[in-house]
Amino acid sequence: MSPKLKILPLNDWIDTGGKPLVIAGPCSAESEEQLLKTARQLASVKQLNVFRAGIWKPRTRPGDFDGVGEVGLSWLKQVKNETGLLTTVEVADSSHVELALKHDVDILWIGARTVGNPFSVQAIAEVLTGVDIPVMVKNPLNPDINLWLGAIERINAAGINKLIAIHRGFHYFEKSPFRNAPMWEIPIELKRIAPMLPIVVDPSHICGRPDLIESIAQKALDLEMDGLMIESHHDPENAFTDAAQQITPDELQYLLNKLVIRVKSGDINFQHKLEELRTEIDKLDGELLQILAKRMEIVDEIGDYKKENDITILQMKRWAGIINDRMSIGTHLGLEEGFLKKLLNLIHKESIQRQENIFQKK
Ligand code: PEP
Ligand code: MN
Repeated sequence: MSPKLKILPLNDWIDTGGKPLVIAGPCSAESEEQLLKTARQLASVKQLNVFRAGIWKPRTRPGDFDGVGEVGLSWLKQVKNETGLLTTVEVADSSHVELALKHDVDILWIGARTVGNPFSVQAIAEVLTGVDIPVMVKNPLNPDINLWLGAIERINAAGINKLIAIHRGFHYFEKSPFRNAPMWEIPIELKRIAPMLPIVVDPSHICGRPDLIESIAQKALDLEMDGLMIESHHDPENAFTDAAQQITPDELQYLLNKLVIRVKSGDINFQHKLEELRTEIDKLDGELLQILAKRMEIVDEIGDYKKENDITILQMKRWAGIINDRMSIGTHLGLEEGFLKKLLNLIHKESIQRQENIFQKK
C-alpha cells in the first residue's frame, strides 16, 4: 500500500541553503556546563543547522544514567538563545511532548525504541494533534519498513506535515563492524515509496565508533539522503552515554569539510536495484567466508586425527579425486576452468599448511 502522506518539502520550513541538513550535539545532556560548552563549540561548525541532546534516555537496564529530565529543557533554551541554533530533543511519551512544547524546543524526535511500539507512537500523535512542530521519526530497531512507515503515518495523520525520517541502522544478529547494520535497501525503499519524505542519516548510531562515521556519512550523501545527525560532545571519552561513538566539535568540522556533495542522479529506482544487488553480494560473501572457515575447521579436525594415527598429511590420491570432482561440479555451474583450478589449489595449499602447523605442534 502506498502511503498517503502530506509532507512539506524540507526547505519550506528550514533553510539549509540547498545543502544537506546537519544536526549535531551530545547523545545526552549531562549538565548545564557540558551542554553549553559543547553547544558553544558546535556553534562555530559552519554547516550545522540543529543542536540535539537527549534528556530522557531509554537505557537498556535500570540504574544506568537515564537523563537529566526537565531541567535539561531550560539548558536547551539557553543554547538556542545564545547560539541561534534550532534545538531538538527525544520524546518518548505525551508528557515529554508537553514539556518540550512548553520550553520552546524547535523540533521533536521519536527514538528507535519508541517507534517500535505503535501504542506509544499513537499516544504521542494524539498530544501532537493541532500542534505545528516538526517531528523526526527514527527507524525502529528491527528492520521492518512498515513499522517505520506506520509511525510516520500516525504522526502525519495527527496533522504534522513537517516530517523527517531518521535512518539509524538496524539490530542485526550476524557479526558486523557496525553497531547497527545500515541495510541501505530499507531507507532507499522508503524514499522510493514516499519520495516527498526527507531522510536524515545518523552515522553515529549506525557505526557505534568514530572511525566509520565518515564513510557512512559520505554514503548517505551519495545515496541522496537529505542530511546527517551526528553525535558530538566536547569530551567524548567522559560522556555519560554512547562515549564510544561521539566525536568532538572540531572532529565534526573536519569530517563535514571532507564530505563531497555530488550532483543528484535523481534515479531512485536505479539506486534501489543496485543497492539490493549489492546487499545480496554482501550476504553471499559473508556466507562464502563462513563456509570457508567451517571447511578449515574440519581440515584441522582431520589434521588432529591424522596426527593421532600417524598418517601423512598429503594423500595424493584423495586430492586428485577432489580436483576432478570439484572441477566437474564447478564447470557445470558455469565457473571458468582456470579460475576453478586456481581457487581449488589455493584452498588445498591453505589446508595442507594448517595441517602442517598441527603436526609441528607438540
Ligand atoms: C540517540 O539518538 O541518542 C538515541 C537514543 O538513538 P536511537 O533511538 O536511535 O537509539
Ligand atoms: Mn546516543
